[in-house]
Amino acid sequence: MAFDQPLPASLSPSRLADFQACPRRYQYASVERIPQPASYATAKGRFVHFIFEQLMSLEAPLRTLDAARSFVAPALEAILTPQVREEIAMDDALEARLLAETAVIIDRYFTMEDPRLVVTEGIEERVGVTIGDTPLIGIIDRLDRDEDGSLVIVDYKTGSLPNRNYDSQTFANAELYAVLCEEKLGERPSRIRLLYVSQGETLERPVNDVVVKARAAAAAAAWTRIRQYYDQGSFPETPSKNACRFCSFRDLCLARGVPVPPR
Ligand code: SF4
Repeated sequence: MAFDQPLPASLSPSRLADFQACPRRYQYASVERIPQPASYATAKGRFVHFIFEQLMSLEAPLRTLDAARSFVAPALEAILTPQVREEIAMDDALEARLLAETAVIIDRYFTMEDPRLVVTEGIEERVGVTIGDTPLIGIIDRLDRDEDGSLVIVDYKTGSLPNRNYDSQTFANAELYAVLCEEKLGERPSRIRLLYVSQGETLERPVNDVVVKARAAAAAAAWTRIRQYYDQGSFPETPSKNACRFCSFRDLCLARGVPVPPR
């Protein structure tokens, strides 16, 4: 059976992660484009990202704590649209929770770095490149120029810190951003910095040649398989506790007889 919808024009790190977790999820999300309702976690992520984007768009000396707090009200307007409010069943209690958690995040963020000292080369930068025949695209939260003159990819994380023995997946998206940057700018970022703003902790890792080549190769291999599955008219499901736990398509898969593990 052929798909009615065209194959997506490019592959982003998050869609690659979908595919690697479960090809059927990629089919539903990226090929069939079945809408995925917002969750509290995704809405909170967008809310907080909006505030930091506005803050970092200011001239460096203006990036103060008060300035960050002043973007909370615009974020309510921009991110918590009537549709999002309905999807996450937002009531007064949930909104109060979001505002309280955001206040903590903003305070913690200012213990992690002084944004007035940050030199940004890009904010929410959309970078698209084709490597070989693999079209890649990504939106980078921040591309900084560090004190030593090198480029650093900075990614805000509003979820929990990974456990101590975090695996390579923690950095996977940002490492693919490094591939995009190197291809687009001709300069390889030296480091990836993940700001876990809910906890006020930073995870950092250098970018090296092995990693860049491995991420580019993994994306190319995935794109080849995506095109094969697309031509076949079906992407296989690979249910697992980890992949299915937060998947938006659990009910759809269960209705189609896929053995989705319980949460
Ligand atoms: S519920 Fe599980 S098997 Fe179904 S699409 Fe999601 S990850 Fe794949």
